[in-house]
Amino acid sequence: YLLLPNMGISQTEVDTDAIYGMQSRIRTLLPVMTEQSDYFSNYKLNLYRAECPLWDNDNAMCSSQGCAVDTLEENEVSDVWKRFSDVDPSSKKNETKCNWEHNSQLDYCYLDEVSSEQDCVFVSLVNNPERFTGYSGDHTAAIWRNIYEQNCFVVDDDESLKEKSRRESFYKPGMYPFQLSPKEDDILTISPSVASQEKRMLNKIISGFHASISSHICENYYDTNRNRWTRNLECWLAKVGNYPERIENIFFNYALLHQAFVRIADQLVEMENNSTSSFCPDNLAIDARTKLAFDNLAFIAQQDRKVIMSSKFFADEESQKFKETFRKHFHDVSRIMDCVGCDKCRLWGKLQITGYGTALKLLFEPETQLNDLRPSEIVALVNTFDRIAHSVQSSFWFQLRRRADLSVK
Ligand code: FAD
Repeated sequence: YLLLPNMGISQTEVDTDAIYGMQSRIRTLLPVMTEQSDYFSNYKLNLYRAECPLWDNDNAMCSSQGCAVDTLEENEVSDVWKRFSDVDPSSKKNETKCNWEHNSQLDYCYLDEVSSEQDCVFVSLVNNPERFTGYSGDHTAAIWRNIYEQNCFVVDDDESLKEKSRRESFYKPGMYPFQLSPKEDDILTISPSVASQEKRMLNKIISGFHASISSHICENYYDTNRNRWTRNLECWLAKVGNYPERIENIFFNYALLHQAFVRIADQLVEMENNSTSSFCPDNLAIDARTKLAFDNLAFIAQQDRKVIMSSKFFADEESQKFKETFRKHFHDVSRIMDCVGCDKCRLWGKLQITGYGTALKLLFEPETQLNDLRPSEIVALVNTFDRIAHSVQSSFWFQLRRRADLSVK
């Protein structure tokens, strides 16, 4: 069986066969980085004190144990991260990897390290895995609804209209008031055909991000009847598998992140390996290990340039003008992550949106250099790549399982 054509994946924008072939190499390296490296397995974010822009006094918090996050105590934080929290970023200007002069004009998302560093906590990503937490209902529906209705775009395209009509049958209007200034003006004044490729890209990134979260929920699902974690095919079909465009969007996001690593590899070549870049100058062993893994990932990605999306984004003057609107919408999605009422979901939601925002910055802001990225952006980028690679993998696994089930019947 050829899985991909049956999943209705369009061959025009991403080379899905290349992604399929590439998985094994990337998938071997990513877990080594995200699970075993001091640098990539921890994350720093404002988890508890950032304001939700959509509504005030919201008490709809997920109280289940599954939603809780264990933060790291001061003495548990690896030296790699401590160093970043102790030092004033402005004093790091001249260090190659730590040139943190922040240029918010280039950012696609809201960065806690910049806006509310004093409220940030450290978490171990390994000890707080993304999985089913039970967080659902009106609260999650209102968040997803706001993201799609206020931040995605109407495009001259039947597929997105079909998706919209499905959503309309699900949402109950007026469940939560939205206080974020609605972008209806944008939506009405920008004709659906202007920069439609870029608008479709934003819609795809959001839908792929959502489908990827859904994949992780269904791959790590808690079966209360048997009291164990399991893979849940019905869950995956209901949330992802019955909608080929959602699977396609997972592949699209994989290609986007892959392409960001190709750009990093190109920069590493330009730097001719003579840079003094450093992840952890205080500990040379950690530093060398982290740098080696990161550079390897970028160079493996570079060897598979076929994964690159064939379309060119922001290529003409009209779409260049539209970039600011695109950035504003993505930026607002990143702020909405602070409305998520389950700590663990908020952690992974914020991390992954930061990962996509970092990829967009690398790909569409040519002046962005690897050295300009903050540690939280680099860690988010690597972990988001790992998450989406998992989702690609689980779409194959669930498809096979479904076929096996059908053949038994
Ligand atoms: P939802 O996933 O809530 O989707 C709502 C509606 O959006 C659907 O009915 C459909 O019309 C539309 N839709 C769904 N998927 C797509 C797509 N890919 N593209 C376009 N439209 C789509 N729960 C956990 O258990 N663990 C987590 O880690 C977790 N993280 C979350 C992170 C964020 C940022 C948010 C907002 C929620 C998170 N949740 C998490 C909750 C989870 O995403 C679902 O909302 C919840 O499981 C309820 O799912 P549902 O089947 O009702 O539909």
